[in-house]
Amino acid sequence: MIDLLVKHAALVDGRDDMSIIVNGDRITDVLPGFDAPAAKTIDANGMLVSPPFVDAHFHMDATLSYGLPRVNQSGTLLEGIALWGELKPQLTFDALVERALAYCDWAVAKGLLAVRTHVDICDERLLAVEALLHVQKRVKPYLDLQLVTFPQDGILRWKDSKGNATAINLLRKALELGAEVVGGIPHFERTMSEGAKSVKLLCEEAAKRGLRVDMHCDETDDPMSRHIETLAYETQRLGLQGRVNGSHLTSMHSMDNYYVSKLIALMREAGVSAVANPLINITIQGRHDTYPKRRGMTRVPELMAAGIDVAFGHDCVMDPWYSLGSGDMLEVAHMGLHVAQMTGQDAMRQCFDAVTKTPAKILGLEGYGVEKDCYADFVLLQARDPIEAIRTRATRLAVVRRGKVIAETAPNTATLMLPNRPGTTDFLLKR
Ligand SMILES: [Zn+2]
Repeated sequence: MIDLLVKHAALVDGRDDMSIIVNGDRITDVLPGFDAPAAKTIDANGMLVSPPFVDAHFHMDATLSYGLPRVNQSGTLLEGIALWGELKPQLTFDALVERALAYCDWAVAKGLLAVRTHVDICDERLLAVEALLHVQKRVKPYLDLQLVTFPQDGILRWKDSKGNATAINLLRKALELGAEVVGGIPHFERTMSEGAKSVKLLCEEAAKRGLRVDMHCDETDDPMSRHIETLAYETQRLGLQGRVNGSHLTSMHSMDNYYVSKLIALMREAGVSAVANPLINITIQGRHDTYPKRRGMTRVPELMAAGIDVAFGHDCVMDPWYSLGSGDMLEVAHMGLHVAQMTGQDAMRQCFDAVTKTPAKILGLEGYGVEKDCYADFVLLQARDPIEAIRTRATRLAVVRRGKVIAETAPNTATLMLPNRPGTTDFLLKR
């Protein structure tokens, strides 16, 4: 007998009345209109079954710390970094673990089952790295957590308590402990040339170890911040094609159009992907502008049109940089769609892909998708297609991981007490 059968499902590619057959932890087939006895059957009732949401850019060491030790008054990136510096000495292993686990509970409830988190390594104790490696093991049965060694205060700029620039040693130690991706923050180094030097150093470190790279890159409104050019160059020089991601890339918003026309081709040639973080970029960038005020998000549709993989990340939830958020990647896609003005039908579907299959590719996830032989990981949404899912930030009716239901939410249905009107509404257009 089949272990789990999902009937009458719509899929992201537009097929409907599909049956998903699960045995053990894998999808063993996806067939139209199929029915058979199963140990457990879910009737999707025409609703969308999507592969799980994936967040390609997050900071789980800082999450849910909002207000500790104080809130960010200016709302700027730099005050956020300073505030995190104040909080760092007060962090404890247990508090880091507890906050991260609480966030993973939210994530699972929202069908977010894979997260790439940057972890600050500018700390002689490497406390956050140890805490998140512990969390990674704890959540493994239900959520894939990928750790990036992130030198928040600059791999070359940061000094330890004895005044030595030892961040590279800490980064190497974090990789040896089990972090899998090399991070960086070239725009925060002291000069442009130091930034470029940091990109070279970190890419060489990744190449030597056969690892992926994901840098906070040009998270500034300064159009002259061009570290993405160096990142693309080093990727190509070291043969890292397909393994390097530029996160944020907000300076591209303000760059000269002629220069961007060269840059996008360089990124494409190097196979560098991009992650925009719409909720954070729209609130943090443009803070020094009067009016008109820049949006600051990178050039998402133009990058996509050039064939570059672009994902949307959540980046922050209730931390020194951002006071809101709930682990809902549909909220992230919704904001990305608006900020990038991606309102065409295909463009809206691309925004859904930017929080599902594109970040899965960037993370290098194996067995991802609602297809034969993939892991039985998926989300039943209260929506019939990806556009409706974004519009309504659809309720996650059921979340399945490795063939088992791990979260459920009641449908979003309001009861109405109105004369000559239906008794309920679920916000879906009648079809
Ligand atoms: Zn970030």
